[in-house]
Amino acid sequence: MRNRGIGTSCVQGGYTPGNGEPRQIPIVQSTTFKYDTSEDMGKLFDLEASGYFYTRLQNPTNDYVAAKICELEGGTAAMLTSSGQAANFFAVFNIASSGDHVVSASTIYGGTFNLFSVTMAKMGIEFTFVSPDCTDEELEAAFRPNTKAVFGETIANPALTVLDIGQFARAAHAHGVPLIIDNTFATPVNCRPFEWGADIVTHSTTKYMDGHGVGVGGAIVDGGRFDWMAHADKYPGLCTPDESYHGITYAEKFGMGGAFITKCTAQLMRDFGSIQSPQNAFYLNLGLESLHVRMKRHCENGQAVAEYLHGHEKVSAVSYCGLPDSPYHARAQKYLPNGSCGVVSFELKGGREAASRFMKALKLCAIETHVADARSCCLNPASSTHRQMTDEQLKAAGVPAGLIRVSCGLEDAADLIADIAQALEQA
Ligand SMILES: *Cc1c(COP(=O)(O)O)cnc(C)c1O
Repeated sequence: MRNRGIGTSCVQGGYTPGNGEPRQIPIVQSTTFKYDTSEDMGKLFDLEASGYFYTRLQNPTNDYVAAKICELEGGTAAMLTSSGQAANFFAVFNIASSGDHVVSASTIYGGTFNLFSVTMAKMGIEFTFVSPDCTDEELEAAFRPNTKAVFGETIANPALTVLDIGQFARAAHAHGVPLIIDNTFATPVNCRPFEWGADIVTHSTTKYMDGHGVGVGGAIVDGGRFDWMAHADKYPGLCTPDESYHGITYAEKFGMGGAFITKCTAQLMRDFGSIQSPQNAFYLNLGLESLHVRMKRHCENGQAVAEYLHGHEKVSAVSYCGLPDSPYHARAQKYLPNGSCGVVSFELKGGREAASRFMKALKLCAIETHVADARSCCLNPASSTHRQMTDEQLKAAGVPAGLIRVSCGLEDAADLIADIAQALEQA
């Protein structure tokens, strides 16, 4: 599928300047584009010609960066969104509407869980959540006649479970629906879900792709292998004329490789307007240029910190699929042979009190509700994101009071370990 290495795609993908053109991608800071005749512009509105007319729909800077992410994932079409939340909303809403149903892994990002279980439920879309460790039978039992998609995260944030993408893809395809994978934590450097059967990939580019804590953003990529027309009864939005867009039938006009992203742009971006600014796309591209180099270091640091914490007298458990005794180790060796990510979570024996003392004592790791940054950061959900919950509720939710999530940045592993070691002494 790939005709050049992932590093070359990170550095040079998506934009090839012509003679005398800028070496770095130009920031096209313009809301609109000028045409000589109304007829020229009319062709763009009819999707008869490709070109730019209004940045809410498309912008050259964003397209260069989307094309790079598309190449990294090995997809056929891609688009940027204003955030990871917008990417996941669009990816699902593009093929599911009121009265439809979606199967999702239960260990997904909290924001996505809320989007699905509260906000999209209000829109009439029902979700069934299944464990990422479910059997084939349990997965099978989650499907309904009105199921339109299956959703999961390669490496879940913050649970750090690793999804059996092949198992979820087989189940989805047996029911004639696509598998959508949020590949934020693994990034295409460590896993390319299309190679394992996924059909649509989403990203919060806010995390490792940006990598410097600079801009919130998202992306959606189509693998181009789901045959919408073969399941036309399920996907009228793709397979019957769109009266709101000059009667175009997306799956006919743009084929398997282009229909999903074209519909998502022409309808959802047109109507919801969750675009990424060209300036942020430029910053995102700077992050992408070093993604392959940074991921290696994030993973080395994550591994070193996980190994240090493993067996420490004040630590009762460490979650990191790079540890040989992790329940996800075998799955990680299959899907993430070059490493997973820099996020490690661990539980302090001393519970809430110990966690609070540990967090206070940290010097290098900052307390942040962020992950996947060049600078290491730490979070104790019980005293921040989940602080309204009791110890019992926290335990039931899989985030015990003494749980700490550390996102290993790009510093020297020895310094990170030294910081954690002295904070553990205080705990
Ligand atoms: C952060 C995150 C999101 C949401 O992305 P935003 O850019 O914050 O909107 C979605 N999925 C995963 C896995 C995330 O880590």
